[in-house]
Amino acid sequence: MKITKFGGSSLADSSQLKKVKAIIESDAERRVVIVSAPGKRTGDDIKITDMLYTLSSHLKYGVPDDKILALITERFVEIKNALNIPLDIEKELAELAAALDKNTDRNYLVSRGEYFCARLVAAYLGYEFVDAADVIKFSFDGTFDEETSRALVREAVEKYGRIVVPGFYGAYPNGDINLFSRGGSDITGAFVARFLGASMYENWTDVSGICCVDPRIVSSPKIIEKISYDELRELSYMGANVLHEDSILPVQDVGIDINILNTNAPCERGTVITRDAGDGSTITGIAGKDGFISFMIHKKHMSGEVGFLRKVLSVFEKYNISIEHAPSGMDMISVIVSKEHASRTVHTIISEIETTFGASVVLDRDLSLIAVVGHNMSGKAGICAAVFGILGEAGVNIKVLAQAPDELTIIIGVAEKDKDVAIKSLYGGLCEKGLL
Ligand code: ASP
Repeated sequence: MKITKFGGSSLADSSQLKKVKAIIESDAERRVVIVSAPGKRTGDDIKITDMLYTLSSHLKYGVPDDKILALITERFVEIKNALNIPLDIEKELAELAAALDKNTDRNYLVSRGEYFCARLVAAYLGYEFVDAADVIKFSFDGTFDEETSRALVREAVEKYGRIVVPGFYGAYPNGDINLFSRGGSDITGAFVARFLGASMYENWTDVSGICCVDPRIVSSPKIIEKISYDELRELSYMGANVLHEDSILPVQDVGIDINILNTNAPCERGTVITRDAGDGSTITGIAGKDGFISFMIHKKHMSGEVGFLRKVLSVFEKYNISIEHAPSGMDMISVIVSKEHASRTVHTIISEIETTFGASVVLDRDLSLIAVVGHNMSGKAGICAAVFGILGEAGVNIKVLAQAPDELTIIIGVAEKDKDVAIKSLYGGLCEKGLL
């Protein structure tokens, strides 16, 4: 059985839903469908979920909200009418509207995007609608109740055979709605796949797979055919935005592959995310992220001072700052952290290190990190030479260098202004050399 999750752009309007139906009907294994709320139809459109968040704030602060309600209703009614879906969605939406007031629970209201979408999709496909509030359960402390949810999801599939479940939300034991974080329908899909021991978790979106480099930097880059969960985590961490990060572990744990597919081009194979390293190219992808600072800590004879490193790092721990990298030299260590996390404590940390350890600290606030990722780089000579050669030719100065011990990732730190040039040249150069 395949678990088939459709994202908001695949459900944005009636023409998208027609494609969804054709996809579902083309494979008998697609018996369990998870849906997001209708997303953007065009670049400047507004997602239903965003409208619901705004509506909730308007209700709370007493701002008139008829316009938003009308826009939300219009979106669902367009889908129903264009596809002749036998469901009185107008009545249900009117009931919701009539019940709204400043005390309406925000989670409940926001979850209605997925709820109404799943109602329509289920009626359109002739599948049973199963409310996530009845099968996706949270404990009162907000943690996901995996065991209860597993039993309920399995029961629903056994009972109905073919079901549509709204993503993104579930319920506490008392029935109140709780939400996963934004983009959380991916998580619902991943858990449902895990519970049912799916043969594949299909994640249908509006791109034909994961690009090996950010398409905003390089136009129409290659699509990765196969990527390991670990490679994906490295690339996502460095800014590649593909799936909700919490959606990987539930399937990775039990060895279910994820296939990223394009609703608008369903014949393309997309990207398969799998446990094993791909057998394709040497380098799988490149990603980059701005917003790092490096504390360059200098102390004479540092390398001979037992415990110096631990003491310095403990200052960062004390201020709850996670360390990204810490490359070191003879008398110097550079501690790289995210600007966002450290901005408030930078000066406190510097003065504490300088006064307590007699070290001097220089700050580099202009740092982007670029990750070159690929299992197949391991044990191969010449990869770093190729990477550095390309950056040298492009006139990019490398400020920081780090390689993960398992050789999965090479991290290169450059000035923020050089990041895009560096990524573009790496993509071009590594493709030319047949490494990407
Ligand atoms: N609709 C929700 C959001 O926009 C959840 C999802 O699409 O996965 O974040």
